[in-house]
Amino acid sequence: MENIAPNFVYPFPMLMAHSASPLKNNKWVVKSGMITYDLLAFDKARTWDASKKIPNHRTLSAREALSLQPNLKREDLTGASVFYDCVSIFPERLTLAFVKSALAWGARVSNYARVEEFLLSGRHRVTGVKVKDLLSGKDHEVHGSIVINCGGPWADLILGLARQEGIGEKLVRSEGIHIITKKELIRDSHVVGSMTAKGRHFFLIPWRGHTLIGTTDKKYTGNPDDYRVTKASILELIDEVNASFGDGSLCYEDVQYAYGGLRPLVEEQTAETYTSSRRYEIYDNATDGLDGLITVEGGKYTTSRNLAENTLNLVREKTGWAMGQSVSGRRYLQGSRIRDVEAFVTQAKRDHPDFAPDTMEYLARNYGTEYGKIVSLARQDRDLSEVVTHDGEILAEVVHAVRDEMALTLPDIVLRRTGIGTLGNPGGEVLEKVAHQAGHELGWNQDRVARELADTLSILRVPTD
Ligand SMILES: Cc1cc2nc3c(=O)[nH]c(=O)nc-3n(C[C@H](O)[C@H](O)[C@H](O)COP(=O)(O)OP(=O)(O)OC[C@H]3O[C@@H](n4cnc5c(N)ncnc54)[C@H](O)[C@@H]3O)c2cc1C
Repeated sequence: MENIAPNFVYPFPMLMAHSASPLKNNKWVVKSGMITYDLLAFDKARTWDASKKIPNHRTLSAREALSLQPNLKREDLTGASVFYDCVSIFPERLTLAFVKSALAWGARVSNYARVEEFLLSGRHRVTGVKVKDLLSGKDHEVHGSIVINCGGPWADLILGLARQEGIGEKLVRSEGIHIITKKELIRDSHVVGSMTAKGRHFFLIPWRGHTLIGTTDKKYTGNPDDYRVTKASILELIDEVNASFGDGSLCYEDVQYAYGGLRPLVEEQTAETYTSSRRYEIYDNATDGLDGLITVEGGKYTTSRNLAENTLNLVREKTGWAMGQSVSGRRYLQGSRIRDVEAFVTQAKRDHPDFAPDTMEYLARNYGTEYGKIVSLARQDRDLSEVVTHDGEILAEVVHAVRDEMALTLPDIVLRRTGIGTLGNPGGEVLEKVAHQAGHELGWNQDRVARELADTLSILRVPTD
């Protein structure tokens, strides 16, 4: 990811505090893990862009650790390890870069489209899906030689639509939440890793002038469509943080925004039912009598490209198609063809002195080689150069999201195309401005603008129950 998406993925130092308890966080246990990590990631210095190289870990005394991060819990602190991993500055836009790349290679994509039925030839051959356009309510049929169900935590419910006995078994789902605090709890030089009394790691991440804390891991038994973050889950995370980080004073009122998601726990399913390249994630439904259907479950964002490659290897095996070797690990993503990302950002600021440096920094990193489209929109209509976030984001991004990035709802615009809502509610004035701009592009009437605003506010509100 560092290679193919250099503007989105950056190495970042993580400081993992050691403590006498729990045992898993003992200095020597952590150190042996770090040495193994360094050995396994032996190729971490072979990056296309030299600024992306990842150094080996180092060990700090308790005093050194406190000088870097004074808010570490002092009791029990025996030292810390500093190791490097990567952070993605905008996972949603990185996902979009994959979608845009697929388009550039001839894929056809569609959003706001829900699979409601499988198309079958006879009882056993899947030939496509019926999807509902959630905005127009219209149904469409999509045909394919192979259908891949990559519905994540919904995968079992999607399989259930095929209504075959013995499949569509219920997945075990676990929820994970994150909170963003109003104030910074850590210095922005490191991510800070800590461990709960039960031995689960959690991280405090410097995040655009705030601190992002997460995640949790708790079984969720409801329908994934009904999932939402609750006040109880926020309070549980706060208790865990207070028990192992800082002075124990973090409270609900410090939370600016909270969001969560579900993971499918594929490991708990029986291994024999999976035809898998790694950890039973790729499942050929032909073994259940549904030929032409493959189900992909689990994995991580980090390993998703590799998972996709292995899924296509199974497609090749099943169909005998001559697909050639995968090139996706060797080509830049769309908008990411940047050999030296720091030089690219500096140049963007130099070339566009009519925009604030933080605006150019934001645009260069989050839009990569496509940032010129936003700059042109703002030059054609000066109103669109209005800055709407502390990071320097401008209104032109909203127009670009609608015209170029298939965004048709306000939540998509503020949460998945721009960063306007990703730190929580940016304030009524900004939201209204963005809604009216989007409405102008999309022909929304007053009622629709009001509905979009209400939907967005309900997502951005910190839960009170
Ligand atoms: C709290 C949390 C923290 C995480 N942290 C990390 C991390 O730090 N690093 C990392 O690598 N990974 C992390 N992950 C895991 C990572 O987010 C997932 O591996 C990744 O999102 C899986 O992608 P996916 O496309 O398989 O599933 P998803 O991202 O869940 O996508 C499934 C999609 O299917 C759609 N869908 C559902 N039903 C239908 C239907 N009927 N028709 C059409 N579409 C449908 C859903 O709307 C959804 O968009 C984390 C996950 C969680 C929950």
